[in-house]
Amino acid sequence: MTQTHSTVAGAKHVALVAHDNKKAELLEWATFNKGSLSRHHLYATGTTGSMLEEALDLPVTRFLSGPIGGDQQIGARIAEGKIDLLVFFWDPLEAQPHDPDVKALLRLGCVWNIPMASNVATADFLISSPLFRGVYKPTAPAHAPRDWTTLAASDEN
Ligand code: PGA
Repeated sequence: MTQTHSTVAGAKHVALVAHDNKKAELLEWATFNKGSLSRHHLYATGTTGSMLEEALDLPVTRFLSGPIGGDQQIGARIAEGKIDLLVFFWDPLEAQPHDPDVKALLRLGCVWNIPMASNVATADFLISSPLFRGVYKPTAPAHAPRDWTTLAASDEN
């Protein structure tokens, strides 16, 4: 992890995902933090996204539902530098049919060094960090392309 990629400043691209047993927790957390979230670009898997849009009355870019490819779509965007932060309330008490996709998403988030919260306490720490609203320069993996900054699509505003 040596190469610096895009500077993540101001409005960030925040992906939100929750497994079925965790959706209520995510909705409650997001509703409580609506003011902060409204300053960022929100993304979500299909069902989570519909519920968030309705609860928050904020625009949410929705991907496919997780089990049919939504997790992979978010993972791909992380690798493209288009997602800056992931709040993923995965279910530690129930097996998921798309467990390989869940693992892949968590793995890519780790590889690309983005902040990830898998429970309410961590999400609280992340959203209350000055870095959530400020500037942060994550490092990219060692084998990221040299022209990474030009590939990264974050609008950095
Ligand atoms: P969903 O997908 O938001 O479409 O329910 C979440 C998941 O299971 O990964």
